[in-house]
Amino acid sequence: AAKHHGGSNVEQYTEGMAASIADSAAIGAQLQHAINEGQMFLEYQPIVTLDGGRLKGVEALVRWNHPARGIVPPIEFIPVAERTGLIVPLGDWVLLEACRQLAAWRDELGDLGPGIVNVNVSARQLRDPGYVGRVAATLSETGLPPHRLTLEITESTAVALGESVGALDDLRRMGIRIALDDFGTGQSTLTLLHELPVDQLKLDRSFTQGTDTGRRDTMPSAVIALAEAVGLDLVAEGVENRDQADRLAVLGYQYAQGYHFARPLSPDAVTAMVAALPKPSSGETGAADLTA
Ligand code: C2E
Ligand code: MG
Ligand code: MG
Ligand code: MG
Repeated sequence: AAKHHGGSNVEQYTEGMAASIADSAAIGAQLQHAINEGQMFLEYQPIVTLDGGRLKGVEALVRWNHPARGIVPPIEFIPVAERTGLIVPLGDWVLLEACRQLAAWRDELGDLGPGIVNVNVSARQLRDPGYVGRVAATLSETGLPPHRLTLEITESTAVALGESVGALDDLRRMGIRIALDDFGTGQSTLTLLHELPVDQLKLDRSFTQGTDTGRRDTMPSAVIALAEAVGLDLVAEGVENRDQADRLAVLGYQYAQGYHFARPLSPDAVTAMVAALPKPSSGETGAADLTA
């Protein structure tokens, strides 16, 4: 029986591996088609002020509405898109769609709506020699001012850039802001932070939620001290409950993102959310209160 079980485990393992390789090949083959056929769509997760829960901006997050599989999350196709290079056309589409949507919200909602859109970018995109030019073209095509766009890269993206780190300088000179995503989980060194042209840190949710190995507030308080010393904006990711929001506010965090405030939403749901909020009285800067 033991031998039989052993054999069958090995067999399942091999079949599982083969299936996942076939799966990722199939995903790669379908991706370009999916982009052309309009199967990709974006959701937008609010980024809010911890002091009052007002809307600062949104992060654009891509999904794939697959005809057979339903909604496929980015973790299942972004790595394949990166390996195959399809992240370049996919990323161009994401950027255009996100800039269009923010410009539409600016027209429709003015200062009550999101003021900034954050867009995730892979190293492969930044290493593409035409990338910076295409970003500039997208901004002028959509009429979005560059300071309303923040591009998010991870620390491993930054390390993988090598010589192409100059692309970040070019983007920043255009007035676009750069955020370091999932901060604290990658190869963060003070040298990296010192040398990288960044404007914003996004504290990874493992620290926000206290699921890292350190004492609960150790990393959040070390990172806010660092952000303040270096003069960077700071957003806490993955805030799931009031206790986490309160602790971060006490530590001095200004901005947060997470299910406690809002899940990633359709454009219509963001519009409806903003429309349902009480209008700020005149004199107050227009921004929505998401916790009212
Ligand atoms: P990310 O950029 O760190 O995005 C945040 C992820 O955390 C999103 O997952 C979001 O839905 C999730 N999240 C937000 N609040 C909470 C919370 O309170 N609790 C928990 N547990 N999770 C929360 P999502 O949408 O599945 O995206 C996963 C990752 O896929 C993103 O992580 C990003 O690295 C990548 N990604 C998404 N869209 C794009 C894109 O257009 N381009 C590229 N290159 N990567 C993308
Ligand atoms: Mg991100
Ligand atoms: Mg993140
Ligand atoms: Mg993350």
